[in-house]
Amino acid sequence: MFENLQDRLGTILNGLTGRGALSDADVAAAMREVRRALIEADVSLDVVRSFTDKVRAKAVGADVLKSIKPGQMVVKIVHDELVDMLGAEGVAIDLNAPAPVIIMMVGLQGSGKTTTSAKIAKRLTDRQGKKVLMASLDTRRPAAQEQLRQLGEQTKVSTLPIIAGQSPVEIARRAEQAGRLGGYDVVILDTAGRTHIDEPLMVEMADIKSAARPHEILLVADSLTGQDAVNLARNFDERVGITGLVLTRMDGDGRGGAALSMRAVTGKPIKLIGTGEKMDALEEFFPKRIADRILGMGDIVSLVERAAENIDAEKAAAMAKKMQSGKFDLDDLADQLRQMEKMGGMGGIMGMMPGMGKMKDQMASAGLDDKMFGKQIAIISSMTKAERANPDLLKHSRKKRIAAGSGTDAAQINKLLKMHRQMADVMKSMAGKKGGMMRGLMGG
Ligand code: GDP
Repeated sequence: MFENLQDRLGTILNGLTGRGALSDADVAAAMREVRRALIEADVSLDVVRSFTDKVRAKAVGADVLKSIKPGQMVVKIVHDELVDMLGAEGVAIDLNAPAPVIIMMVGLQGSGKTTTSAKIAKRLTDRQGKKVLMASLDTRRPAAQEQLRQLGEQTKVSTLPIIAGQSPVEIARRAEQAGRLGGYDVVILDTAGRTHIDEPLMVEMADIKSAARPHEILLVADSLTGQDAVNLARNFDERVGITGLVLTRMDGDGRGGAALSMRAVTGKPIKLIGTGEKMDALEEFFPKRIADRILGMGDIVSLVERAAENIDAEKAAAMAKKMQSGKFDLDDLADQLRQMEKMGGMGGIMGMMPGMGKMKDQMASAGLDDKMFGKQIAIISSMTKAERANPDLLKHSRKKRIAAGSGTDAAQINKLLKMHRQMADVMKSMAGKKGGMMRGLMGG
């Protein structure tokens, strides 16, 4: 999997990591090569462009951490963007619905749909203790129905008895009923494929969907077909609606273009990948693990992560010391705002606290949203050093200049100054008290 890309990116990034300093031109040159490598891997052009743009912007603006070489920082940025491009979090098959949960498998003939149906059934049975029933809806090819029956026997998963002459919709209804009456947790419907997308296929899929009301519709696509797989997913999603994908034959895919662009282009998660013909050759798709595999530089990534944690800890300690001294200027406030922004803004912070959903809405209606931090930081950045240290200097004409520089107005500046004053007062009143709240909070 991804061997070609692994080689190319390895060479490009290794060329950077050893160096003591990196110029913007070095980064740009490396990004040109990364771009070429991704295009050769058959990643969608739009995805390549947005990827390299993001990496370049972050690499140029990045604070290089102490103890880290600039090139190592670039590796970490490339890694994080890869994870982001792949969908950030792994998404599992969702069984959160009344039993029997119906999973409808769709895709072209030969993509590995029947094999994958059996692999999923086996996995749910063995790993999650689910009682699974499989049914083949491929009425055009009796051999397909027989194939599923045999796979069921092999994996010890029940299959719906074959009744000749029934339509796909009739079989789907019978499967749902058998699933319900038989106490099954999951029913997997293996639908018919075609060699290419055509109208009758789409109509059949839509009919089955409305009859069976599946909770998951998984498109099985052959990763070796690259961008064709991505277009197929887009088509199926537009016509039938899909909840996720299984990419098969990843074991033979050295390029990885489909896997890399699928999420960004279609917005649908790759839930599983097929990695061989055997019944257990099915893996969950974890973006971080895949990115680690592609880059093969896990040690550098964790080195940078540790350094970043240290920096945050050092900053927090410095801030705590400052608070104890009772001094808190606008530079300190800007630091705090940046930290909060890093934690995912207001939404991120509130999201971490249970029961805060309602409060979040109220704050949003009061104009306190995620953009607020950015604006406040912009205001502070538009001040001179002297103004930041001594906000009392900020009279009317200075405020006018700052408003123009930060794209805000006097009211917003006053609001920020008021907030700063209140915070500074709290700090001051806290400073004298030994064992006070701040000391407790800071672990001092
Ligand atoms: P269907 O027509 O979509 O139902 O496709 P099948 O399930 O019959 O699979 C077609 C062929 O692809 C079979 O020989 C499978 O063993 C093979 N196959 C399916 N998934 C994978 C995979 O992930 N890797 C490899 N190497 N072969 C696979």
